[in-house]
Amino acid sequence: MEQIYDLHSHSNASDGDLSPEMLVLRAKENGVTHLALTDHDSISGLAEAQITADKIGLELISGIEFSCTWNKKTFHIVGLDIDPSNSELLSGIASLQSTRSTRAQQISLKLEKQNIPNAYETILAESNKAMITRSHFADFLLKNNYVSTKQGAFDAYLGQGKSAFVNTEWASLEDTLHYIKSAGGTAVLAHPMRYKMTASWMRRFLTAFKAEGGLGIEIITGRNNPDEIRRSLHFAKQFDLYGSAGSDFHSPKNKWVELGRLAPLPINIKPIWRLFSQSPQTT
Ligand code: AMP
Ligand code: MN
Ligand code: MN
Ligand code: MN
Repeated sequence: MEQIYDLHSHSNASDGDLSPEMLVLRAKENGVTHLALTDHDSISGLAEAQITADKIGLELISGIEFSCTWNKKTFHIVGLDIDPSNSELLSGIASLQSTRSTRAQQISLKLEKQNIPNAYETILAESNKAMITRSHFADFLLKNNYVSTKQGAFDAYLGQGKSAFVNTEWASLEDTLHYIKSAGGTAVLAHPMRYKMTASWMRRFLTAFKAEGGLGIEIITGRNNPDEIRRSLHFAKQFDLYGSAGSDFHSPKNKWVELGRLAPLPINIKPIWRLFSQSPQTT
């Protein structure tokens, strides 16, 4: 049977719109055979996703997308095939949970000063204990007619340097890799072309990432073009990294990004799933 991997997706345990159950069902409908749920700094959707995956015969890869700060820049590091019960991992998540909670209150305060009250309280009440992200604030601003599009919320308030932006120190690169490796997982640099970084900064980052035990890089993501694929591939080759593929699906509302709708991984790259414990039989 053909295998379709989608190794980056979000549920409402962070800023996705679907419950873990609905996400897994949608992946199955789209023909995905191997799905990684990778919520921002959270694994709280994994148990529900696993139950659904077992029921319908889909291979769930336990994952997470860590927020990481290196040289004052934010990177997202996906941890794949992790043991969700590992104590080092859990203490790392607890620390990021507290960072996110403080930051959300700071964002809310900045909004309040601009006559937009109660953002944090409202989001907290409606989010069902999800990890709170800027996406939640964007939805709040949209729902309450402070902006007319979600992108508008980032442009006016939440984007870097905008009026409600809070500069955040996430986990260090060393700690992030420690959490993932302790849990037996594989660390993958998410969406390398989204950082708007020069090639020389990217090389510096990847040198550090490799030194800490990073193994993979996303080559195929939800919305990349052939030139971005080519450049990602170049970094993968240069640093001898495994290639990953993941849609970064958040919501059915985004018509451009769908679970499992991904260009094939170029054949001249080692697929990251070769390293997974569950699926040694593949290509
Ligand atoms: P955070 O990790 O809390 O800074 O939130 C970042 C999340 O916000 C990302 O994972 C995206 O899901 C979402 N996001 C960031 N920029 C945009 C944007 N311009 N439009 C819509 N969503 C965005
Ligand atoms: Mn997100
Ligand atoms: Mn990301
Ligand atoms: Mn993501």
